[in-house]
Amino acid sequence: MKQQITVLGATGSVGQSTLDLIRRHSDRYSVFALTGYKNIELMASLVNEFKPKVAILVDQHSVDLLSALVSHSNTELLHGSDALVQVACAPQVDIVMAAIVGAAGLEPSLAAVKAGKKVLLANKESLVTAGKLFMDSVKDNNAILLPVDSEHNAIFQSLPPDFDFADPSQGLEKIILTASGGPFRQWTLEQLQSVTPEQACAHPNWDMGKKISVDSASLMNKGLELIEACWLFGVNSSQIEVLVHPQSVIHSMVRYNDGSILAQLGQPDMRTPIANALAWPERIQSGVKALDFTEISRLDFEAPDEEKFANLRLAREAFNQGHSAPVVLNAANEIAVQAFLDERISFLDIARLNADMLNAIAFRQIYSIEDVLDLDSITRIRAESWINTDSRV
Ligand code: NAD
Ligand code: MG
Repeated sequence: MKQQITVLGATGSVGQSTLDLIRRHSDRYSVFALTGYKNIELMASLVNEFKPKVAILVDQHSVDLLSALVSHSNTELLHGSDALVQVACAPQVDIVMAAIVGAAGLEPSLAAVKAGKKVLLANKESLVTAGKLFMDSVKDNNAILLPVDSEHNAIFQSLPPDFDFADPSQGLEKIILTASGGPFRQWTLEQLQSVTPEQACAHPNWDMGKKISVDSASLMNKGLELIEACWLFGVNSSQIEVLVHPQSVIHSMVRYNDGSILAQLGQPDMRTPIANALAWPERIQSGVKALDFTEISRLDFEAPDEEKFANLRLAREAFNQGHSAPVVLNAANEIAVQAFLDERISFLDIARLNADMLNAIAFRQIYSIEDVLDLDSITRIRAESWINTDSRV
C-alpha cells in the first residue's frame, strides 16, 4: 500500500523538493492533498501531474482561476484555512509535510499532530510560537514528529534513538547548531544600512523562499532555529552553541561527554533532510549528489556576531523568557520582513522593530492556541503602526 501524503505549502521551495522525492518514489508514496496560496499556474501544473484528491488555495477567486486550468475532475478544489486543517488530519492521510511559511502554518501543522500523523516539520514558526502546546500534543497523540530543517535533521541523525538529554548514561552535552552566516557575514554595520531585498534574498548556499532568505541574512533564522531546537530536543538555550560555518557542509553536530562529536554532512540541498524524514527509519535515494571531499578545500568556523545581528540574541532572550515573548518576536519579524521586502523599512529596521515590539508588548502567560493567535494578531497590528509612524530612530 502506498503511503498517502498531504503537502502543506506544495508550491514553495520545500514543497517542490518534497514533490521531487515523491516523483522519484511513486511506488511508495501518493499525494492526497496539495496546498498553495496564490501561485495558481504552478498549482494547476501540480494538480494535473499528481492528481491529488484535494487541492487548496487561499480564496474562491483563486480556486475559480485554478479550476479553468485543471484538466481532470478527480481533484476537489477548496479554499481557506478550515480546508487546510481538514487535509492535515483526514483519516486517509499517513504523512503530512508541514511546509507553509510563517505562523499561518501553525493550525494545520497542529491538526496533523493532534490526528497522530507522521509529521515532517519544516514550518519552524509552529514550534517558535507554540512550542510547549505543540510538543505536548505530539506526546498525547503519539504523533511522529520528524525535523526537516536541515540543522535539526542533522542533529536528529547525530543523536541516539530515544535520545534524552536528562539521561546521564547517554552522555549528551551540547548541540552545535551551525549557521552559514548569510550573505552579509562580513559586511560592516554601515554597509548593512543600504541592503536591498534582492541582495538579502541571494543566499550564498541555499535556494529558499524569500522570508527564510531574509531571516538567514538577518540571523533571525538561526534565532528561530535555536528556539525550534530547544523544543524538539528538550534542551535549554545554554545547551545550544551557534557556530558560523560559511560553507554549509556540516549541517549541525552533537557533542558527547567522552569528547566525541557526531555530525551530519552533505550538499546544501533540502532533498537530503526531506528524504531522511520521509522514509524514516528507512533511507531512500534523494537525487542529491554525494559530497566530494577533494572539492571542499576548507571548512571554516567562527562565532556569530550578535552585535551586528541582534536578532539571534533577541531570540535567545525571548525563548528564555517564554510564553508571550517568542510569539511577539515571530509576529513582529514576519511583518518586518514583509515590510523590508516591500521597501517600506530598511534591513536594520527589522531587528529594531523586533526589539521594540518585545519591549512594548507586555509579557503574558500563554495557555492555549487561541492565546497564541490572539497575541499574534495584536503584535501584527502594533508592528504595522510602528512602520506607519515615525516612531523609529
Ligand atoms: P516558500 O515561501 O517558498 O513557500 C511557502 C509555502 O507556503 C507556499 O506553498 C505558499 O503558497 C504557502 N503559503 C504562504 N503563505 C500562506 C498562507 N498565509 N496560508 C497558506 N499557505 C501559505 O517557503 P519555503 O522556503 O518553502 O519555507 C517553508 C517553511 O519551511 C518555512 O517555515 C521555512 O522556515 C521552512 N524551511 C525552509 C527551508 C528551505 O530551504 N526553503 C529550509 C528549512 C526550513
Ligand atoms: Mg535551517
